[in-house]
Amino acid sequence: MNVVKRSNDTDVSIVGAGILGLSHAFAAASRGLRVTVFERSGTPTGASIRNFGQVLVTGQPPGAMLGLAHASRTIWKHWADQAGFFAREAGCLLFARTEAETRVIDEFVETRAQQHGYDVERLAHSQLAALYEGRFAHHRAALHGRGDMQVFSREALPALVEYLRTTHGVEFVFDTLVKDVGDGHVCTTSGDWRATHTVVCSGHDYLTLLSDALAPLGPRVCRLQMLRVRPTREIALQHALLTGLSCLHYGAFADLPAARDLQREVESTDPALLDEGIHLLVSPAPDGSLIIGDSHDYNPDPMPFNEEHVDAHLLRLAQRLFNEPLEIMQRWQGVYGARPRNVDRPFSILKVSPGVTGVWMHTGVGMSVGPGLGESVIGHLLEGRMLSAA
Ligand SMILES: Cc1cc2nc3c(=O)[nH]c(=O)nc-3n(C[C@H](O)[C@H](O)[C@H](O)COP(=O)(O)OP(=O)(O)OC[C@H]3O[C@@H](n4cnc5c(N)ncnc54)[C@H](O)[C@@H]3O)c2cc1C
Repeated sequence: MNVVKRSNDTDVSIVGAGILGLSHAFAAASRGLRVTVFERSGTPTGASIRNFGQVLVTGQPPGAMLGLAHASRTIWKHWADQAGFFAREAGCLLFARTEAETRVIDEFVETRAQQHGYDVERLAHSQLAALYEGRFAHHRAALHGRGDMQVFSREALPALVEYLRTTHGVEFVFDTLVKDVGDGHVCTTSGDWRATHTVVCSGHDYLTLLSDALAPLGPRVCRLQMLRVRPTREIALQHALLTGLSCLHYGAFADLPAARDLQREVESTDPALLDEGIHLLVSPAPDGSLIIGDSHDYNPDPMPFNEEHVDAHLLRLAQRLFNEPLEIMQRWQGVYGARPRNVDRPFSILKVSPGVTGVWMHTGVGMSVGPGLGESVIGHLLEGRMLSAA
């Protein structure tokens, strides 16, 4: 039997097969380079498959993040078409239940959305009756973000791996921990590789690689509780859903004066939601079930213990949104990279040596901006283009 020995030589090596790693792999492979992705698991199991799959343009603050989200949306659309995975393009609906929530939508539509060209429409209370058979008519208004997309991450990521492998010739080396990286070399549990460029996209693992460069960032993790629920009546939801609490969380809205009023209202009416960092989002899965979440617990280490009262809050809010009981099918914990809450920097790009660059997200929007970020970093490393700086 002839055994063909693989050449451990590549142009661009990538550490991590999460969305950041795959985005950088795509950007490099699209330029005709030989790309090798190393992943310690047998398939992606990190933040990138535990999320809502929302490719959220509407929620990003004006400037670099909005630009990256637009670029990412275009890339996701290309991937979904080419790789054939499930994607919704109807956008998102942000429902306002209270007067204070409605005022945030109004302020956003009348000011920021116009100034920065967000593709949104305000839906009045009267229009909600015609939407999903009036299932959301108990809300005061809604914001339709027309530019947003949603994928089913646990299927999209493996499909993307397969697409990159078969269509772009990307080599994947799974079940392999990268132990060390340096200019020209990658040292792994499956042997050593030579690589001209290495991009480390290691998510919230801050110790295995580049720990000296990472330490000054004071990296933290954010732990999130998530549920998948079944509605009692079929709804055939085509939009990802956001709620008033999302206005306190996402940079597009959070600094608006009306959002500060809303923050004060929630502090007085439902402070437990703020204590647990809860804001309700919903993503419909392809089978009609609903992914709902989330809570935010920031720590140096992610505690493994889920709190039942957090799940109870999420279920209560979701049942109020849908105006009906929901049955829990699945529970899980997501973890993503973060930084201390007073540091307003959504991601870091560190060129630690001529041939080694690290890229890490510090907020929960890697699906929304990751593909654009990958294109920006690879364009910078290979063609000297300007980096998108957040
Ligand atoms: C519950 C939840 C909901 C979210 N919802 C959304 C959303 O709807 N929209 C959105 O935009 N963002 C969302 N996010 C955020 C988004 O998922 C993250 O920002 C993004 O997935 C981070 O991608 P990543 O590639 O950096 O990390 P990961 O997906 O964690 O990937 C890192 C990979 O690197 C591998 N790795 C690390 N070190 C090594 C090593 N030394 N050798 C080999 N492999 C290594 C790990 O095994 C892992 O697979 C959510 C996150 C969570 C947790």
